[in-house]
Amino acid sequence: MYYNSIIETIGNTPLVKLNKVNKGVPGTILVKVEYFNPGNSMKDRMALKMIEDAEKAGLLKPGGTIIEGTSGNTGMGLALGAISKGYKCIFTLADKQSKEKMDILRAVGAEVIVCPTNVSPDDPRSYYSVAKKLNEDIPNSFYPNQYDNTSNSVAHYETTGPEIWEQTEGKITHWAAGVGTGGSMCGTSKYLKEQNADIISVGIDSYGSVFKKYKETGEFDEKEIYPYLTEGIGEDILPKNVDFSVIDHFVKVTDKDGAIMTRRLAREEGLFCGWSCGSAVHGALEYAKENLKEDDIMVIILPDHGTRYLGKIYNDDWMRDHGFLENNDYATAADIVS
Ligand code: PMP
Repeated sequence: MYYNSIIETIGNTPLVKLNKVNKGVPGTILVKVEYFNPGNSMKDRMALKMIEDAEKAGLLKPGGTIIEGTSGNTGMGLALGAISKGYKCIFTLADKQSKEKMDILRAVGAEVIVCPTNVSPDDPRSYYSVAKKLNEDIPNSFYPNQYDNTSNSVAHYETTGPEIWEQTEGKITHWAAGVGTGGSMCGTSKYLKEQNADIISVGIDSYGSVFKKYKETGEFDEKEIYPYLTEGIGEDILPKNVDFSVIDHFVKVTDKDGAIMTRRLAREEGLFCGWSCGSAVHGALEYAKENLKEDDIMVIILPDHGTRYLGKIYNDDWMRDHGFLENNDYATAADIVS
C-alpha cells in the first residue's frame, strides 16, 4: 500500500489522552496531535484546501507562484502542495519567527523574505503588505491570504471537525484551540456545534492580542495591542476566518505560561510540540479547572512540532534570558544549576 504523493497523508491525526499535566482537573482531556501531518502542523490541511480551491476558481494556473505572509507552518503546507502540483513559492515572515521555521521553508524550496515584526499591518514593510505588493508585481501569482480566505476554515470544517466527532464517538463536550487566523478553531467549532449545539468552544488568545476584548465588548481596542513572543496565536487584526459566533469564551495566556506548559508536555506526556500547544493546553486547563465536570470530554488541538522551537523554548539560555526559568523546575535535566 502506498500514497501517490506526500499530500495524501494529510489529516487523520491521532487523539491522545493527557495523563499528568492535567492533574486535579476534572474530566477527560484529549489532545489532537497535528504534528503527525507531513509538514508537522495542522496548517497542511488548510494549505492544500486553499491551493485546490484556487485551482478550481482559476486563480492558480500551471507554472504559477504562491505568495503568502506566514508564521511558517502555512508556508510549509503550501510548499508541500506546491511541490506535488508544480508551483513556486515566496513567503514573507515577521522577524520574530524562529530561524528554524525559515530554514525549513528554504529546505522545501521556497524563497523566504524576512520583514520587521513591530510595524503596523498597513505599514508597507509589514509581512502582510510585502506579500500583497509581490502579488501585484509578479505575473501569474496567487496570494492565498490565509487570514481572510475562508477555504482555511472550510478545511477544518471538512476534516478536523469530523475526525474529532468520530474519534470521540460524538461524546466531546468542550473544544479548545488557539486562535490566530481563526481557521482551526472556527471551522472545527462550526462542524461540532452542528452535530451537538451544547458543545462549548474555548478560544485561546495571547496577551497583546485583540480577540478576547473584542468578543466580550464588541470593541476593537488598540490598547490591547502590544508586542508578545508566542508564535501563531493572537492577532492585531480581525481576520475573516474568526467567526466570533462559534467561540463561546476566550482565555488569555502569557508567553511564559505557554512556554512552561510546552516543556511540561514534552517531558511529562512525551508530546514534543510547539509553543502555541503549551499555550492552548495551559489556557484550556485553566478553563477546565473551573468549568468541567467529571464526565466531560475536552479536545484541545496541538498545532505543530517542537523542532521549530529548539532555539527558543527548548533552549535553557533563551528561556533564562526571557525570565521564563526563574526557578529551575523546568530546566532541561542536563543543564540544571542547583
Ligand atoms: N499555532 C501555530 C503554531 C500556528 O502557526 C497557528 C497559525 N497561525 C495557530 C496556532 C493558530 O491557528 P489558526 O490560524 O487556525 O487560528
